[in-house]
Amino acid sequence: MHSNAYHNSYLLPPTSYLSKVAALFFKTIDFSKFSSIKVGQPEEVLIIERGDTIPDDRYLIGSANNLLVSPTPPPLMMLGKDFAYIKPLDDTMLEIGAAMLTGRIVSYAKKHDIGGFEFCAKLPGTLGGMLAMNAGVKSYEIFNILHSIEIDGEWIPKEHIVYGYRYAKLPGIATAARFQISKPYNTTLHQELLAMRNNQPPHPSAGSAFKNPEGDYAGRLIEAVELKGYRRGGMAWSDIHANFLVNLGNGTFEEASFLLTLAKERVKERFGIALKEEIRLL
Ligand SMILES: Cc1cc2nc3c(=O)[nH]c(=O)nc-3n(C[C@H](O)[C@H](O)[C@H](O)COP(=O)(O)OP(=O)(O)OC[C@H]3O[C@@H](n4cnc5c(N)ncnc54)[C@H](O)[C@@H]3O)c2cc1C
Repeated sequence: MHSNAYHNSYLLPPTSYLSKVAALFFKTIDFSKFSSIKVGQPEEVLIIERGDTIPDDRYLIGSANNLLVSPTPPPLMMLGKDFAYIKPLDDTMLEIGAAMLTGRIVSYAKKHDIGGFEFCAKLPGTLGGMLAMNAGVKSYEIFNILHSIEIDGEWIPKEHIVYGYRYAKLPGIATAARFQISKPYNTTLHQELLAMRNNQPPHPSAGSAFKNPEGDYAGRLIEAVELKGYRRGGMAWSDIHANFLVNLGNGTFEEASFLLTLAKERVKERFGIALKEEIRLL
């Protein structure tokens, strides 16, 4: 479980500076446990709370469901508990903090009969990660239901943000987002989308490794170049769904990036198609 994967530590500046410099709050996060693909090592991650200055020399992580952490990642940060909230502003608008986990958003939407969030069921991550990735399933994407995003204390309407299939050009760190409330929660759709996940590989992964190229499927291409089930050390292209890079046990970043490169090279050579990673390498 994520909660067991880290411990807390404070890094305090020398006492004489205490009145001028706020204490920085770090958590040691072991990415071999915390990340969904279970690759990485312990790293010090700066926790950002409301009112903190967000540094521009650190990489922001959500809950690491779309990340592959190398042995030398950039300095990291994540949003803390101040950004994990859901509050209705009135009968028409819902505000959600960017650190809120998708599972809790779905539970809230179900409980309060709010539609639009059905596709977030079993789509692991935080709201911030979903916004940055424009995460979704089939034609359901987070930007479809989005009203606006809070970045640097300003509310930016969706119409002012460039987004597309599995990407959004966010002009900074998203701290919260607003959604127009629509009713009801569609339990039939929820069940249908959950059923689609029944054939997902059970091993640790980061979901789809590559984006689907226009008019085709990355999984079909990886299978066509005979990499479905292909293993390198602890990592493999799943034999259930070829576009899932899975960790069969003690997989490493090197093994994972070897398989990513191999798939890209073979698909390029055979089909002339340049596969693009959906998974983010740090
Ligand atoms: C089993 C499994 C199934 C999956 N199925 C799907 C699926 O069906 N559809 C789909 O789209 N994805 C899927 N994924 C991928 C993953 O769930 C999504 O990409 C999710 O949105 C990642 O959220 P996260 O909080 O873990 O982000 P992270 O993986 O931690 O980060 C992803 C990116 O988001 C950025 N980011 C995070 N928070 C913020 C913020 N507040 N502001 C700005 N940028 C931010 C990070 O910098 C990084 O670039 C799946 C993953 C797994 C493991």
